[in-house]
Amino acid sequence: MDVDVDDVLDSLVIGAGQAGLSTSYHLRRLGVEHVALDANAAPGGAWQHRWSSLSMDDVHGVADLPGSPAPDRGPEPANAVVPSWFADYETVNGLPVERPVRVHRVTDQGGLLVVHADDRTWHARTLVNATGTWTSPFVPHYPGMDTFGGEQLHASAYPGADAFAGRRVLVVGGGASAVQLLGEIALVTETLWTTRRPPVWRSDQLDREAGRAAVARVEERVRRGLPPASVVSVTGLALREQEHEAERRGAYRRRAMFERIEPDGVRWADGTFEQVDVIVWATGFRPAVSHLAALHLRSPHGGIRLDGTTAVADPRVQLVGYGPSASTIGANRAGRAAAVAVVRRLRAHDDVDLLAG
Ligand code: FAD
Repeated sequence: MDVDVDDVLDSLVIGAGQAGLSTSYHLRRLGVEHVALDANAAPGGAWQHRWSSLSMDDVHGVADLPGSPAPDRGPEPANAVVPSWFADYETVNGLPVERPVRVHRVTDQGGLLVVHADDRTWHARTLVNATGTWTSPFVPHYPGMDTFGGEQLHASAYPGADAFAGRRVLVVGGGASAVQLLGEIALVTETLWTTRRPPVWRSDQLDREAGRAAVARVEERVRRGLPPASVVSVTGLALREQEHEAERRGAYRRRAMFERIEPDGVRWADGTFEQVDVIVWATGFRPAVSHLAALHLRSPHGGIRLDGTTAVADPRVQLVGYGPSASTIGANRAGRAAAVAVVRRLRAHDDVDLLAG
């Protein structure tokens, strides 16, 4: 099929969370014709799906968007405050976001990237992937998990603590989500906590140095093409004021991982058994990149090798909010880097008629 050159976009962004919005802002400033396709029906990226008890006071901190300071801390739910900020941002900056559009597949056709959604396709010279991780919750496999007679859910589907009243709840996972959920669930019912590795607690605020070191570690993994670890998860755990009651009730007495799951509970290698009614898997997320499979970006090590934000296997493609930029501050900065890399790519291939700056 021939494509009319006028129908080819200079760039296309997939995802309109913090990373996609930052990218779109910079592409616009640099005069790059593009659209941003987002699967959600409304602005807000993953924030609109966070559990309602996660307030602006609870989040680690949301970074500014280019030219727009982040909302203040406070008791309001983050799943309302951040989406409303994003919605204003899109409008004020005239960002070309189209939604709801879920991209299923990106393919190559004669050097152009073809982006396939349900009933539409777009052709683009470059692509910026900003699809985050929220739509790709990770649950590890344990023997017997299919035989469990109770309820199993991932933290991303956390319905609020009251849904668990009267049931014995096991929370699995050593990250900030597990700590927060235990802090709430332990106030209404009995809980257990298992993690693979002993949790690392920090008593003070995460300092800049430790933050930079965490990002550098993930950066190095991505440069080598390894699957990225989560930046947000490598910064250590802290108990907040509202979790002290749960701590007093013993919610943070962590146990090592069980060996198998049985119909009524979980069993450790030494034979110990605990009856549980609910297993909450607070076991994190993976990058939501399956729609890019046909571009063969993955290295033999299982991750996507990046040079800055550029995919080494296909320099037409940028990844933002991936690996070292999978935090709001990282996503924000990566958006600028990706837009600059897009311009460089278009210039190098003489694909662009009109670029400011
Ligand atoms: P998202 O916000 O997930 O946006 C991705 C967008 O892409 C979504 O709108 C999605 O619908 C869309 N999309 C996905 N797949 C497709 C597709 N195939 N086609 C079209 N669109 C698609 N980071 C911090 O810096 N501070 C915090 O306090 C903090 N708190 C967190 C709390 C929780 C519970 C979690 C899970 C994460 C937290 N993070 C925090 C991490 C942070 O949220 C993310 O790193 C950042 O917000 C991600 O932005 P993003 O734009 O990459 O992704």
